[in-house]
Amino acid sequence: MGFRFRKSFKIAPGIRLNMSKSGIGMSAGVKGFRVTKRADGRVQRTTSIPGTGISYVETHAAGGSFGNSQVADASEVPTRKTTTCPNCGHRYTIGKANFCSQCGQQLV
Ligand SMILES: [Zn+2]
Repeated sequence: MGFRFRKSFKIAPGIRLNMSKSGIGMSAGVKGFRVTKRADGRVQRTTSIPGTGISYVETHAAGGSFGNSQVADASEVPTRKTTTCPNCGHRYTIGKANFCSQCGQQLV
């Protein structure tokens, strides 16, 4: 027992479509650098030095969350800037509303 279904298609030079029981993944890259979108949504980046057998694999969790990511990417942290209403001092998030929910003051 233990059948496994796994098939991979070369759809273009350097681009490969991988089909397995868990879904469809995609892998694209050139010699020494490869980005793989796995069936579970994770993105795996493989950097290798051709001819040496040395490679470095980074896995990024689906949806940009940190998950098992080995490298913390600061650009993925949502920036929530808050400021206070110049009229009443009510605290609000920039870009969320155009007017203060407290006093109706127009917000920049
Ligand atoms: Zn206000």
